[in-house]
Amino acid sequence: MSIPIFIITGVSGSGKTTIGQMLATHLACPFADADAFHPPENISKMSVGIALTDADRAGWLLALNQYIRQQKNGLVLACSALKQTYRDQLGQGVDEDSLHWIHLYGEMDLVRRRMVERKVHFMPESLLVSQFNTWEKPDSGLLIPISQTPEEILRQIISTMALPTQWGVVGLGVMGLNLARNFARRGFALSLYNRRLAGTEEKVAEKAVAQYPELQEAQAFESLPDFVQSLARPRKILLMVNAGTAVDQVFEALIPHLTLGDIVMDGGNSHYEDTQRRQAEAARHGLFFLGVGVSGGESGALNGPAIMCGGDAQAYAQVATGLETIAAKDTGGQACAALIGPGGAGHFVKMAHNGIEYAEMQLLAEVYSALRWDLGYTPDEVADTLAHWAEDGLQSYLLEITIAILRHREGSDWLLDKISDKAAHKGTGSWASIAASELGAPLTMMTEALFARFVAALRDNRQAMAAAYVTPHHQVVLDQQDLKQAYQLARWINHHQGFQFIQLASEQHDWQVNLSELARIWTNGCIIRSELMQQAREYLAESLDLLLHPGLRNAVTTFWPSLQRTVSALSYSSRAYPCLMSALAALNGSTTANAAAHLIQAQRDYFGAHLYERVDDPSGKKYHTHWI
Ligand code: NDP
Repeated sequence: MSIPIFIITGVSGSGKTTIGQMLATHLACPFADADAFHPPENISKMSVGIALTDADRAGWLLALNQYIRQQKNGLVLACSALKQTYRDQLGQGVDEDSLHWIHLYGEMDLVRRRMVERKVHFMPESLLVSQFNTWEKPDSGLLIPISQTPEEILRQIISTMALPTQWGVVGLGVMGLNLARNFARRGFALSLYNRRLAGTEEKVAEKAVAQYPELQEAQAFESLPDFVQSLARPRKILLMVNAGTAVDQVFEALIPHLTLGDIVMDGGNSHYEDTQRRQAEAARHGLFFLGVGVSGGESGALNGPAIMCGGDAQAYAQVATGLETIAAKDTGGQACAALIGPGGAGHFVKMAHNGIEYAEMQLLAEVYSALRWDLGYTPDEVADTLAHWAEDGLQSYLLEITIAILRHREGSDWLLDKISDKAAHKGTGSWASIAASELGAPLTMMTEALFARFVAALRDNRQAMAAAYVTPHHQVVLDQQDLKQAYQLARWINHHQGFQFIQLASEQHDWQVNLSELARIWTNGCIIRSELMQQAREYLAESLDLLLHPGLRNAVTTFWPSLQRTVSALSYSSRAYPCLMSALAALNGSTTANAAAHLIQAQRDYFGAHLYERVDDPSGKKYHTHWI
């Protein structure tokens, strides 16, 4: 396209300035408002409600025409240009191929309403009738009704005029497809790409565009170079492919087609160290690579996920509008999306999020197990109990879906009873446990939850062991209120460990993660959203250590005995309760001022001369004893 000039026309109040600015931002070209070219005498006349004559407009149109012809980098001009003669004057001497007219039109009542709402403008509403009388319907250019939202209008302009699109999505699996639909519903012009695998994956993008009405204006590609070419620069490309080699393959294939400043975002569950490696690779090519943690599953992707971004702040600033528009909103209406920090911070906190999720799920499984198998409740009775807990301040997304699952029937049977107990996982829990070990973060509950899945996965071994042993049988005497409070406290300990883990990583990598802001992002859209998270957001603003916040002291003190009684009662069960037991161990351990670890230090020194510090020498000097 040769240095394009877009002129957006319409009566005052039609929204041409808003649309013009959006289009100019999208095209990364200058924007001008023709009103700024009026001489003072024209403005004075209009301000007191006197309509301009053709003679009044002559000098103004001449100045605008000169301005248009001087432009070297393209231009979006918002200009009333009500008559054809005005439009002819504006376009005089301008290459016809580069001149694009977009005319906004609508009912006078709608425009009047908008003008009344508009606060700062010299044009009084009384001039509207004169504007409508002067307006001549154009016989060429793009005519767009203003009854749509600005985003819809922009999308129509982009698709009708075959302009470069705003966002690209690579990988139209579960997450990619739903995120693309979310973007499209919110007015973004999209390019969609999915690889072609002959015989199995063909025309995936094209089929998505045909299947979902909101994607009908999206452009579909099976050629990566064509996909890249279709995007406005700097390009914003969201990868939603499987973590690992697929991300490397797609990124490597993209690089030769990208240009300086383009932004590639990896929205999958990638390991944060892989993200940092790819960021370094991107920088070598003058590109940006953002690691974008996305949580909320399929429905979150469609309706508003929580988004945790890591990487360059300038690159984030360019994609912030898109990501924050599609994200869930917190109770104050703010987007549950933000730049968490540089480097791999986004993917690190997504990994930690998943780790917290593992323990939250395991705790619910343990509560269910205790109520169903040790106390003899039916799944419906467990669901009713949990529903009361939810009403009593324990509301969370995971609790909500657990209740729905417990009540779900297939015919007269509970579907749950037909589901195999072999638990699976996709790796983020293992990564979190490994990262915690490397950092020295006591992530005991998350790790117990992960290991509980490993035990569950070894079904054949469990069956053999169950046949080989008769577990000692005891009556479990467990109070339901104790179990509820034990669950509440265990959740706080889990969150405490998760945020502590993030804080340690943030200090080590100098990410400056704002824990309270992170908790805010996790109050909606993501899998671990809950009432507890709302409170955690407030507490973390005042204390980086959740359990040391005075607001929690009462709850911890009151619930601690309940956790003790629960763990004590469940120790007589034939079933395993690793997360509840781990919670108590974590709380006891972290509140023990004089730990038994002095024996560990002595043992280490005994067999390995690893030295120890003495409590009666605060200098930190290391000692060794010849023990034999
Ligand atoms: P899917 O398996 O549904 O989709 C994966 C997509 O990646 C498909 O479009 C697939 O293409 C494409 N793909 C795979 N390998 C390649 C390759 N080598 N080259 C090009 N394209 C490739 O996965 P999801 O959408 O569920 O997940 C995507 C990412 O998002 C993962 O990292 C996942 O962990 C993460 N995630 C998933 C969530 C979920 O709830 N599902 C939640 C949050 C994050 P094709 O169709 O041709 O195979």
